[in-house]
Amino acid sequence: MDVVEKATEIANKYNDLELIDKKIIINQPEIWKFQFGDRQLNLVEPMIDNFEKFNSNTGWKQDRTAWGQVMQALAHFSFHCSGGQFTPCDLQGGVYSDGVVLTDPVVMSRNQRFGPTDLGGEGIDSFFSRHVCNEYCREWWTRPARRQATFADRKGTTMIRVQTQTGRSPFSRQYY
Ligand SMILES: [Zn+2]
Repeated sequence: MDVVEKATEIANKYNDLELIDKKIIINQPEIWKFQFGDRQLNLVEPMIDNFEKFNSNTGWKQDRTAWGQVMQALAHFSFHCSGGQFTPCDLQGGVYSDGVVLTDPVVMSRNQRFGPTDLGGEGIDSFFSRHVCNEYCREWWTRPARRQATFADRKGTTMIRVQTQTGRSPFSRQYY
């Protein structure tokens, strides 16, 4: 939920600049508790049409289309206006006539505060080692001084490995 809030703040700042004539909206999930059955908590989101993936958290990118390029520029803009603190990525969602609705974004932060998909400073540096500025970027936007690709360039979402005790037995049933 923290991630969604930060991504929304970034998208709103980008929309306010009016660099493009369309809007970027972040899908707002809600937690629903069903009254019947096992009453479990469910994270639900409005349904999205025309789903596309624009980038991953390691810098894999689709920049063949205008929206693909706008998403790479959004990540660059965020780095610039947050003083290098935040880069939204894993941008995916639905393209509509008046804008894009992004769902389930990742935000990478210097101090790695957004969970296992936040690859921290090294993630931000890896991401920018693969960023190519396009017509939606501005040449005065700052970039990381260090552009080292620590993480491999994958389309899927990369997570930080959690150190575990390898001597322990695995799950006795499948939880996922
Ligand atoms: Zn750029």
